[in-house]
Amino acid sequence: MKSVESPKFIVDINVGKLARWLRMMGYDTLRFDGDDDWRMIITALREGRIMITKDTQIMKRGVITSGRLRTILITSDEPDLQMQQVLESLNLDCQFRPFTICLECNQPLVERSKEDIEKLVPPHVFQTQNQYMECPACHRIYWKGTHWQAMTRRIENFMKGSPKQNIESGNGQ
Ligand SMILES: [Zn+2]
Repeated sequence: MKSVESPKFIVDINVGKLARWLRMMGYDTLRFDGDDDWRMIITALREGRIMITKDTQIMKRGVITSGRLRTILITSDEPDLQMQQVLESLNLDCQFRPFTICLECNQPLVERSKEDIEKLVPPHVFQTQNQYMECPACHRIYWKGTHWQAMTRRIENFMKGSPKQNIESGNGQ
């Protein structure tokens, strides 16, 4: 199967919460926790990542004003609105590859059989869930429990509140 080129991201610490949301949708996303902007820019360029920041000073750098490094300047303080801005400005699919990347370490998850994880998850989870994924780096086990459902609902809400969606659904010419 041919792999489709999908956008990859690096998020600045000032919008660090976006990393988990993007990973949850399946987008390869680094979180930059340092304070050396230049290192973040170099990483973005080297790895072909779109940079996301709230820092207006970074936007003045030549590498960004020239368009060489694609950067999204987040305007809201509200995480939901921040996510909405990212999804809209890149026209991202929020159902891209849900729950295929570890939320903590950005590693692609590996499918695990129910037998493999029996001793690793609480008994009530084992009894009710049949699909499990494991992070090869931190060995967290993921399943589609209530936390997963809550996050999925919240993503759907980002998009429901989006003005663009309202225009599209109210297409009455
Ligand atoms: Zn992990």
